[in-house]
Amino acid sequence: MADVALRGVSKSYGNVDVIHDVSLDVEQGEFVVFVGPSGCGKSTLLRMIAGLEEVTQGDVLIGGARVNDTAARDRGVAMVFQNYALYPHMSVRENMAFGLRNIGTPRTEIDSRIAKAAEILQLDSYLDRKPRAMSGGQRQRVAIGRAIVREPDVFLFDEPLSNLDAALRVQMRTEIARIHHRLGATMIYVTHDQTEAMTMADRIVVLRAGVIEQVGAPLDLYERP
Ligand code: ADP
Ligand code: ADP
Repeated sequence: MADVALRGVSKSYGNVDVIHDVSLDVEQGEFVVFVGPSGCGKSTLLRMIAGLEEVTQGDVLIGGARVNDTAARDRGVAMVFQNYALYPHMSVRENMAFGLRNIGTPRTEIDSRIAKAAEILQLDSYLDRKPRAMSGGQRQRVAIGRAIVREPDVFLFDEPLSNLDAALRVQMRTEIARIHHRLGATMIYVTHDQTEAMTMADRIVVLRAGVIEQVGAPLDLYERP
């Protein structure tokens, strides 16, 4: 069964059709990238998968369950945002622990998940720092760490590298690919950057004006005559 399934999904704001009749199956462990120009609806689609935005028509299924029928904490998704969305007054450790504390995860379990995430992300020596004393790349790592500790089945990334400089973007691409291999989780990643899509995706979904224009493996999409 597909891990994430979109079935005839549409979204309108008032009279404006932003997503139109999108259907897609994402398999367990797949790395799928939504790519397309600004305003084509990538972020809206991702937010509907996260359950952060209502679906106007159609269904979004995660592990076979309709997103709208599932409580947020049971959806098994975690989102990494472009602007990191960290709490500035909390340390890295507290940022990672916060969501887990709220759902009553035992302290020893929280500590062990943070230790594992910190090791994966090479953040061990930063756990007691505040985000404001860290670089953009380190902050984005913390944001990824906050998703990892939730142990989601599905990671959702919304343009996570757009605020980083070019060299760091290249480095973080490799890092996210490494995390994908290490965790084997399903990842859905939104970007307007074709190079990012080409280098990271198992499968690329090209969106244009709210519809799927093309779907395929990177080489199939861009290297055929
Ligand atoms: P992308 O992520 O590809 O840049 P978005 O999903 O952010 O595109 O936006 C798709 C379209 O939906 C844009 O035309 C945008 O202006 C519109 N849109 C997004 N959010 C809202 C909203 N809350 N109300 C009205 N229009 C919106
Ligand atoms: P936190 O915002 O730190 O997670 P909560 O656990 O109170 O604190 O989060 C509120 C709700 O939003 C929860 O039900 C949670 O499942 C959901 N949520 C929180 N963070 C994310 C995220 N990164 N991606 C998807 N859902 C999230």
